[in-house]
Amino acid sequence: MINSEQIIPVEFSEEFSSLNSFISTKSSGNAMLPDCSKTIALKAGVDHRRLTTCSQVHGNTIMTVTEESIGNKFPASDGLITNLSNVPIAVFTADCLSVFLFDPKINAIGIVHAGRKGTQKQITQKAIKELNKQYNSIPENIFAAIGPCICAKCYEYDLINENRSQLLKSGIKAENIKTTGLCSKEDGRFFSYRGDNGTGNRMISIIVK
Ligand SMILES: [Zn+2]
Repeated sequence: MINSEQIIPVEFSEEFSSLNSFISTKSSGNAMLPDCSKTIALKAGVDHRRLTTCSQVHGNTIMTVTEESIGNKFPASDGLITNLSNVPIAVFTADCLSVFLFDPKINAIGIVHAGRKGTQKQITQKAIKELNKQYNSIPENIFAAIGPCICAKCYEYDLINENRSQLLKSGIKAENIKTTGLCSKEDGRFFSYRGDNGTGNRMISIIVK
């Protein structure tokens, strides 16, 4: 996996050689710009033409990516799951949390954009339910990685703990949950919505198998 100033791997508690999961940084630029996300994808060895995203409306809708929807930007949704290979699924964040999911037994992945509103709407729990509904994924087989986000010291709402408890409530084993421990506001490598006074700059979190 590439680890550079521009791309930081988001690791699971076990190493899965078939997976690529990472977040971009401030030095790779505003990932909302198509040229920028393309460059990031190329750098990470990801097929940018198949990059599939969602519009992110702070809701709790999870979409399933099928062959027909590769490369889509799904409207009115904040999370994606797929069992397809070579289909990078992604969310954009700056202070919000990205939750990466992988079930190695059924070989399916997921990614969730969880800000305060989405977290309160139980989006992470919903993603686990959706993996079960679509692919019969069993929560105890799922691994979760919690990406960089604004920490509980810098923001009155504890995104990490809330989403972690949703994972646990869903039946995910504590030892299968890994947190980067990086705060987007304190760590100068990241864009921070609060730290940068509300700019539109975002990092991209990508997972692909
Ligand atoms: Zn912090």
